[in-house]
Amino acid sequence: MENYLLLKAAILTEGIRSDHESLKEVGTKYKEQNHGLFGWDFENHVNMKLPDDFTLPDGTVVQYRLNSKSPYNVKKNKNKLKLYFNENEICEVKWIERPNYYNNKTTNDNEMIKIGQIGGKDCLFFCFQNYCSNFKENKQCKFCNLVSTSKTYNSVIRKKDVQDIGEVTAAAWSEGSVNHVNITGGCYINEQEVTIVSEIIESIKEHTGFERVPGTILPAPAKGDDIQRYYDTGIQAIGYAMEVWDKKLYEATCPGKSENTSHDEFVTSIKKAVKIFGEGNVNIAMVMGLETKDTFLNGIKTLSTIGANVIPFVWAPNPGSKLEGHRAPSAEWYTETIIEAADIVYENKVPPGTENHCYLCDGNSLLHDALRLKGVI
Ligand code: SF4
Repeated sequence: MENYLLLKAAILTEGIRSDHESLKEVGTKYKEQNHGLFGWDFENHVNMKLPDDFTLPDGTVVQYRLNSKSPYNVKKNKNKLKLYFNENEICEVKWIERPNYYNNKTTNDNEMIKIGQIGGKDCLFFCFQNYCSNFKENKQCKFCNLVSTSKTYNSVIRKKDVQDIGEVTAAAWSEGSVNHVNITGGCYINEQEVTIVSEIIESIKEHTGFERVPGTILPAPAKGDDIQRYYDTGIQAIGYAMEVWDKKLYEATCPGKSENTSHDEFVTSIKKAVKIFGEGNVNIAMVMGLETKDTFLNGIKTLSTIGANVIPFVWAPNPGSKLEGHRAPSAEWYTETIIEAADIVYENKVPPGTENHCYLCDGNSLLHDALRLKGVI
């Protein structure tokens, strides 16, 4: 059987391309990219609709990252989509269905697609404010292309209305395939953030009837008493975008963010968040591939011991970031490292927190897939 973990790592680090026929129903029958926050392709594709993600035969979800030079390519063949490495057929793939609400508008007459987008098969994503103050002084994280993506595609409403978010949530949930929300403010460093999040969660509760909303809020790093305030909003899990575990590399990679939140402050806050939200309900976003295997795994060890989950995104250089034109580590490196990470998480018995984030949520991380091989779903 094909090693789908390795195949996913290879597609994420090499990118993918498709023939004209296979893209015909993208944006009508199948879900297209909408660039809700970052751009993950190797090259921009204004005016070209591309799939957001797709599935491999074992159900693995893979993010679509365009690279017109990639050896991985999809062709339509007898009504099926086939994945090839150059001319050699590997397996069938399937684009993911487009949600119906993408065609609808809110009562404020805003297009729902510009407010919340589906990640993978079941995660409703909102960036309530597409803005990050770190770009102002050229102190953005070196892998980040938030501003360039927003300028290139201008595809979403930058500041979303609370009522609109509630309506989109109700519409998305009514279709039966959404299981979680993922809410972020880009990097909205503002004392009012917790108040805005509280209003958003209230609106979601009103429109859906949830008592606690399944999913994750990922604000600017929550510290001190704010952690309890986020819990009191009624969201089930909280996230911390720590990005890089190695202290010095974190400061070098994320100059603006590290001025506001040091490595040690992250760890202190995460410990507190686990006490409040419970083990398995704190998700740490890391960018995997920027640091050594050793320091990355040290991070996995410490965070697992604390009882936090990690969502390590597979890094590949994207346009508009400072690392544009660099190369990611090999697919083999990613696969070996993530298998060791899964062993650590498994041994520490961190509750998987799959009611907040699961392997169907997004196609740019490998840890859920590696844990699935161990029977953790
Ligand atoms: S904090 Fe870093 S990763 Fe997040 S939006 Fe700002 S520059 Fe990008």
